[in-house]
Parts: sequence; C-alpha cells; structure tokens
Amino acid sequence: MIFDVRTLYTSSILILGLVGLLLLWAWLQNRRSEALIWWALSFLVSTAGVVLLSDYDKIPDLWTVDVALMLFILAHGLVWAGVRSFVDRPFPWLGLIAGPAIWLIAYQTTDLDESTMGRVLLVATLSSAYTFCAIWVMVRDGAWKLRSGRLAIILLAAHTLGHVLRIPIADYYPYSFEADVEGIAMAGLTLEPMLFAVALGFVLLLMTRERWDAETTLAATTDVLTGSFNRRGFFEAADAARERAHRNGESVSLLLLDLDHFKHVNDTYGHAAGDEVLQSFTSRVRGVLHVDDIFGRIGGEEFTILMPQAGAGEAEALAERVRNTVDAQPIMWRANRIRVSVSVGLAVDPEAGRSLDELLEDADKALYEAKRLGRNQVVAARSDDTLEPVVDPNPERAHRDQTLRDAAEES
Ligand code: GH3
Ligand code: MG
Ligand code: MG
Repeated sequence: MIFDVRTLYTSSILILGLVGLLLLWAWLQNRRSEALIWWALSFLVSTAGVVLLSDYDKIPDLWTVDVALMLFILAHGLVWAGVRSFVDRPFPWLGLIAGPAIWLIAYQTTDLDESTMGRVLLVATLSSAYTFCAIWVMVRDGAWKLRSGRLAIILLAAHTLGHVLRIPIADYYPYSFEADVEGIAMAGLTLEPMLFAVALGFVLLLMTRERWDAETTLAATTDVLTGSFNRRGFFEAADAARERAHRNGESVSLLLLDLDHFKHVNDTYGHAAGDEVLQSFTSRVRGVLHVDDIFGRIGGEEFTILMPQAGAGEAEALAERVRNTVDAQPIMWRANRIRVSVSVGLAVDPEAGRSLDELLEDADKALYEAKRLGRNQVVAARSDDTLEPVVDPNPERAHRDQTLRDAAEES
C-alpha cells in the first residue's frame, strides 16, 4: 500500500484544522469550559505544524522540521493544559513552555538534525510526557468518573503507545517528510495522528457536554442556600435508596425536621439572620449524618433525612443527635447569639415497601405531635398508628435547655 505524501499532508491539514475549528465553535456556543479553547488551539497548532512540513521543499529547513516538530510537542502540551483547565487546576504556563524549549535547545546544541532516530526519540519522549501528564491529571482529579473521560484516557494511552512504537521501527522505516509512505506499519503510524485527532476531538467534546449535563442536573437538584438536596433532589435520591432497600429486604427510616419558632428568628433579627441559621443548621446536621443518609431541604425551614438500612433504634438515635447538636449551642450572627431548636417526626418502614409520600405523611403527624408537646423533641410514628415521644437519654439536660430557652424568650 502506497500513500501519496501530498495527499496525506492535505488530508491531515483539513482534518486537524476542521476539528480545531469545531472545538472553537463549541466554546463560542457555551463559554463555561475554557478547556475547549486550549484543546482547539492544540489542533490548530498541529495544523500549522503539518502546513510547515508539507511545504518541505519551499521553505528552509529551520521552518520545517525544527519548528514543525516543536509545534507538535506544543500541541500535546496544550491537550494537557486543557485537561488541567477542565479539572479547575491553574494553567501550566511553565510546563507548557518547557517541552518546546527543551526541543529547541536540543535541536540547536546537538546534531539532532542529522539523526532521524534522535529526533523521533526526543519528539516521542516529550509528547508522551505531556500525554502521560494529561492522563495522570484525569485520573487524579476524577475526570475518569465521566464515561467519556474513561474513553479519553484509553485514547490518550493508545496514542502514547503509538509514539513509543515509533522508536524501535525508526531504524527499519526511515521516517521521511518527503517520500511517499510505503508499508502497512508506516502507513499506520502516519494515519494514526489523523484518526487520533478525529477521535480525540469528538471525545473531548463529549467530555465537556457530559459535565455540562451533570452540572445542570446538580443545579436542578440542589438547594442554593444550604447546598443540600432540594425537594426534587431529595425525592429522586431517597426514592432510589428506598427501592434498593426494598429489593434487599432492608428497612428505611425517614426523619422530618422543622425548626421551632423560626418565624420569630426572622421577625427579631431579619431575614439574613434567618438564612444564616438555616446554613448553620445544615452544617451541624451534616456533622452527625452517616455517609449513606440522604439529607434535603424540602421546604422553607423543613428538612428530611432518609436513612437506608436503619431501624427504629438507629433512627431515634440520629434524631436525638440532630436535636441535640442544634440545641447545644446558639448560632452566632453578627454578635447575636440566636438560640434555635428543632422538632423531629420519624417514621420507620421495616420492609421499605411503602411510598415516600406515605412515610412522609406519618412523619408529618409525628412532627405535629412533637410541636404540640412543646417542640425541641422527637416523636416516632409507630406501625400501629400511635405516636410515641422518643425519650431524651439525658432528661435533665433537656429540662435545663428548656428552662434556658424560656428565659431567653421572656427577656
Ligand atoms: P413552628 O415552631 O410551629 O414550626 O413555627 P415556625 O415559626 O418555625 O413556622 P412557620 O411555618 O410559621 O414559619 C416558617 C418561617 O420560615 C416563615 C418564613 O418566612 C420562613 N422562611 C421560609 N423560607 C425561608 C428562607 O429561605 N429564609 C428565611 N430567612 N426564612 C425563611
Ligand atoms: Mg418551623
Ligand atoms: Mg414549617
């Protein structure tokens, strides 16, 4: 199989250039992801490199081999820089300049231009180092969690392998920039950058889109003020967990939390103080949750916790811990000590067979009872439809706290 070298150059230029422009266009559509600029630039820099090589016999040597190969190295560096930007790491100016600089210095100070093997070795080493860094950043900073991220890693690894393969065969197949390309192995190595470019451009775009989708979903399911699940997010996550528990024959427990006299906080200190209380409350609750617990804000000052695999004992213990951690210390707001407490209603389903709405209804009845009994307490809805206050393991302290609060309210 013989490939006409002009045809190869022309198709490379068109393909690399097109992919670069498409990535740039994608960035213009949605400027959230700066990585797209660096990736687009990487393809455009490669395009420029091939343009220089293709004019081999018209432009002096310095502008072909020397600069063109430097541009290819830079293009690999830009893929890495783009990956860093994708995972919100600082732009690696120094690292990006280092590769091309090493190349230029080596080219000027050694007899690299005489040795094909030397050139292949240095280009392969520098490009592979950049590609390896890109893979490393993706693994370290979690981009591999995206489906398209894993595909990008495989693609980059295969490309590096392509570079490494160039080294042993450089002697058998003298790599030339002017002769027609002959032989399957050589054709493969010459076509590889083109195929890689198309695939990589596509995968990088997929990666950006996949993350945009994830960000949009996250925004739609997160409460802006507290960063916990909002109503929609909670119901989605909790329903999935409840179904899983049901399949495994496990129980679930649901806690419904409502801050006591919250309107009073707003009325006394203002809405901003109320917001601060909601945020502090959230972080205190988070501090006592188990990893599997699903926590959400389903109304103004109403929150829910779904505990997978938890029976009455564990649910009551957590409810008491939450109640206690809120009650234990006032929340500070601009030198004001705001005392808050929370009432909790809880419902347990030993088989996780009932719907979330039914569980919430039971927990709501229990919460109502907790409010009726004087707030700052936990009430459990039992399976026989009775409501039972959960006894504070430390009644003396509960009593003391209540006295403190009464005093605070009077003053
Ligand atoms: P109870 O002990 O019976 O629960 O009394 P409460 O005052 O907590 O209950 P109520 O439902 O009367 O008041 C809830 C208040 O929560 C009313 C509303 O202004 C306030 N609220 C709801 N969402 C927000 C919010 O995002 N920020 C602030 N600061 N206040 C909020
Ligand atoms: Mg309330
Ligand atoms: Mg309420």
